[in-house]
Parts: sequence; C-alpha cells; structure tokens
Amino acid sequence: MKIVIGADHGGFELKKSLIASCPEATFVDVGTDAAESCDYPDYADAVAEAVAGGDADFGVLVCTTGMGMSMASNRFQNVRAALCRDAEDARIARAHNGANVLCLGQKRTDLAAAVEILKAFVSTSVDDAERHARRRAKLERARRLSDFSGLAKDDPEIYAAIKAQVTQEDTEINLIASENTSSRAVRLAAGSVLMNKYAEGYPGKRWYSGCLPVDAAEELARTRACALFGADHANVQPHCGSSANMAVYFATIKPGDTILSLSLDQGGHLSHGSPVNFSGKLYNIVPYTVDRETERIDYDALEKQALEVKPKILLSGASAYPRALDFKRIREICDKAGCIMMVDMAHIAGLVAGGAHESPVPYADFVTTTTHKTLRGPRGGLVLCKAQYAKALDSAVFPGMQGGPLENIIAAKAVCFREWMQPEMKAYAAQVVANCKAMCKAVQDRGWRIVSGGTDNHLFLVDVKGTKGITGKDAAAALDNAGIVVNKNTIPYDTESPFKCSGIRVGTASITTRGMKETEAALIGGWIADILDDITNVAVQADVKAKAAALTAKFLVP
Ligand SMILES: *Cc1c(COP(=O)(O)O)cnc(C)c1O
Repeated sequence: MKIVIGADHGGFELKKSLIASCPEATFVDVGTDAAESCDYPDYADAVAEAVAGGDADFGVLVCTTGMGMSMASNRFQNVRAALCRDAEDARIARAHNGANVLCLGQKRTDLAAAVEILKAFVSTSVDDAERHARRRAKLERARRLSDFSGLAKDDPEIYAAIKAQVTQEDTEINLIASENTSSRAVRLAAGSVLMNKYAEGYPGKRWYSGCLPVDAAEELARTRACALFGADHANVQPHCGSSANMAVYFATIKPGDTILSLSLDQGGHLSHGSPVNFSGKLYNIVPYTVDRETERIDYDALEKQALEVKPKILLSGASAYPRALDFKRIREICDKAGCIMMVDMAHIAGLVAGGAHESPVPYADFVTTTTHKTLRGPRGGLVLCKAQYAKALDSAVFPGMQGGPLENIIAAKAVCFREWMQPEMKAYAAQVVANCKAMCKAVQDRGWRIVSGGTDNHLFLVDVKGTKGITGKDAAAALDNAGIVVNKNTIPYDTESPFKCSGIRVGTASITTRGMKETEAALIGGWIADILDDITNVAVQADVKAKAAALTAKFLVP
C-alpha cells in the first residue's frame, strides 16, 4: 500500500513519528522536515495531486489542527479529504464518504491516537450500499457546477447561463441527434490554460516560440486519431465540421468544380453545397436523392448519376440519414467515375469508433467529422486522409483557411480519442444503436410513420405530417413542453417549408451517455407517442414532464 504523506511546520513531528510507527506501509514523504515556517497549501497540493492522479492509494496530511490541510486538499478533483479525530471518524469517512486523504492535527491528536486513526482509515473499505453510493455520486456530480463555481463571483451573469445549462441537462431528456454529453475530462481539457498559446503551424514547425507543451498535446491528438480510426494522417485543427469540409475542398478542387452530394432537404448538410453556404457559392453542386419508395440511397442510381455528372468529389455522409452507408459500394462508384471519395461521418463518428457502424476510413480518400456528436468530445472538427493527401490537407487548413489552432480544444479532442480506446466504449456505441431501435419501434408501434421504416444508427425520423397532418415545428414544440428535446427536420420529398418541416429527428447518443438502456428508450418512445397523439393537450404534456423529471433523476449526467 502506497501512502503519500506531507505536513507543514506545525505537523512535521507527528508525520515523522507516524512513518516510524507504521513500518508495514510504504510512505512517499513530500516534506516538510523542519520547524522552519512554511505554507501548508504547498504540501497539500503535492499530496492531493498524487492521490488525484492515482499515484498513491491514500494521502495523509498533518498541520497544527488539520483544518488548513483538509481545505487545501479538497480543492482537488478526485480527492476527498477528511479531518479525523478518532478511529470512528476515520471508518465513517472511508465507508460512507469514500475519503482518500486523511488529515490530522498535531496539536489535537497524539501519536498513539494517530496510529489508530491511520490504521482504521486504510483498513476500512468503501461501503457500496445504494444510499452511500448515491450520495457519493452526487458529490461527484456537484462538480458539474463546482468546477465553474469561481464564476459565481467573477461573472455572475455567465455563471447563471452555465447553471441553467447544467439544470437543463440534468432534468430534460435530450434527443437532439447531433448532441451528446461530454465527459468532465473533455471539459477540463477544453477549459485549460492551453487556450493561452498561439501555435500557428504544426507540431515541431510553429511560427511562435514556446510551443513545446501544445506540441505534445497536438501530437497526442493526431496520433490517437490515427490509431483510433486506422487512418494514415489526421489534421485535428479544424474549428468545426464545416471547416473540416472546407479544408478538403480547398486541398483538392478549384472553385467551379463539381461535387456530387446528398441533397440538404434529404439529410445532407449545409456545408455539402447549400446555396446559402460557402460550399454552394464556390462549387458546382449536383445533389443526389434517396429513392422515393425506400427512402434509402439507391446505389445503382447513384452510380449512374456519378458516371453522367463526372464529379471531382463524391461526398457521402449526412445529418439526417437513419440507415447504414455502404462504403465499399461507394468506393466502387468513385473508382468507376474517377473521383475523390469523401465521407463526412460527423453524425456517426462515435458509432464508427465503437464498431457499431462500418468504418469509411479504409475506403475513403478523405474522412471528415465533427468531434462533438456521437463522438462525445469537444465542439470541433477533424479530417483523416490517405498519406498522399497529407501535405495538401495540412496547408489547406493552415495557412489556407485558419490562423492559430485552438490548442485547448485539440487537447480535449485527444482526451476524447483516448476515451474511445477504452473497451467500455464499444458497448456504449452498440447501446446507442440498441436504444435507438427500441425507441423507434415504440413510436412506430403506436402508428407513427418512420422514414425508411426504421433505423440502423443513432437517429430516426418521424413523418408527423404524413401520419397525422401536424408539422415538425409544432410537434417539436409540444415535446419541448414535456421536457423532451428533439428538433424539427425535413424528410425526403418534404412538402412543407424548411421552417415548418414534416418531420422530427430523434437521437439516442445523449440518453445513452447517462446510462439509459432499451427499457427507458422504449418508455420515452411511448411518451413521444402520447404527446404526438394530441399535441395541444397540455395535461398530457405536464404529466410526461413529471415522469421525465423522475426518470432523469435516476440517470445522472456524468
Ligand atoms: C453537424 C454536421 C457538420 C458540421 O458541423 P459544425 O461543427 O456545426 O460546422 C458537417 N457535416 C455533417 C454531416 C453534420 O451533420
């Protein structure tokens, strides 16, 4: 057992005696060893950092009363420091509160008592009775707010906005298919001091001095992205998914060249050639559509169109396509048409990372993505490409279209990629899809028409207009009143204006992150049907809202 121990001038004598009295433990002593006056937070920091990082099993801190040490070390995440006066305190602090740092006061506790307290502390295991586990989980969750609590004083208005978002995430059922809930680790990296650095260029080749720390972070992000997706090369600098797409266009084609991409109103994305977007203004966009009957991509028709149109780029990927994409077939089409195969996997990147959707990476010349949708990282973009395009891609991003990269966000991307390398993320990705199928079926079983008849991924589309003549806009507003957050969406061959839409888009990435399974997904699907069946019924909405609040209380947001 490894115990990291520290003290200030008011506690170093007890520390020394304690170490001598417990020969069975391995102590790492961070000081101090003299009566000379020193500052307790310095020693608390050293001990707390070791415990927070998992370098030691326990920490022990001694000062005159033990109070300064407990205050100082409790500022650290993953540290729970307890000031104990007797062995009973120590046992309760361990069993109930899961304490991992013991604080002692040299003036209050003699050596014999201190030895008893330490022995009780290290030999008591954490009690996993439901009530204690729940309370400890609330201690952890409090950090969703306490991480930002300094803002309460420094900028109360922004603090209020953050607090409102925390409450919304805690109490509402988020079914926005393009959103997810990032981990605390991702948020910490995103809010870190790495934002202070200007780093135009790439690791090892920067225009500014002092880039060693950010070089390390960006190199980790690049190598982890390549390892996670099996790519030759990664550029982690694009600020968002749209700029990731822009980078590929800039790296490969000229203004006026032709891009064949899925029509926006059938599930494509703005940056795939919408006339109001730079992509539609700069390039000759030819849209392809899904089959009217199956509402799926007809690869034979796509091949025929590609051979006629002869695009420079065939762009696959969508924001609202509930079916699996056949990348092997798309590669064959690109080879026949002699064009670049580009896949924008923004929506499904997490499913790809977790093995719940086939990866486009072995097939495509370029794969772009956002990092914040199913991939559950920070808001940002990423481009993967074959080795032969690496140089062109990198210079398209910088100096082609961006100045300094957001190194804090790049670090958060690296954290996200590392999370995906953990084995439990495979289960997460599979669960997202299983939840989506369960929720979709529950809605469908109540008579609501589902676009393409179902789903293979993290989202499904309900044709609310076709089923009951209501607009997507009104359906989404009614669900919102009930604490269920979705978005209105066009469906293939939509007859409504894009402002009203005929459908709603429903996704399960976020509820799966908070631990919900098929049972909860089906329950929520039933509630969606309850609301849609009578969208003006405010009593039903209030009832569902209460049930949603009770459900979300059981599934804490991480
Ligand atoms: C969300 C999305 C994007 C763009 O992401 P932003 O980060 O909002 O620019 C690009 N492509 C597809 C398919 C998307 O769904």
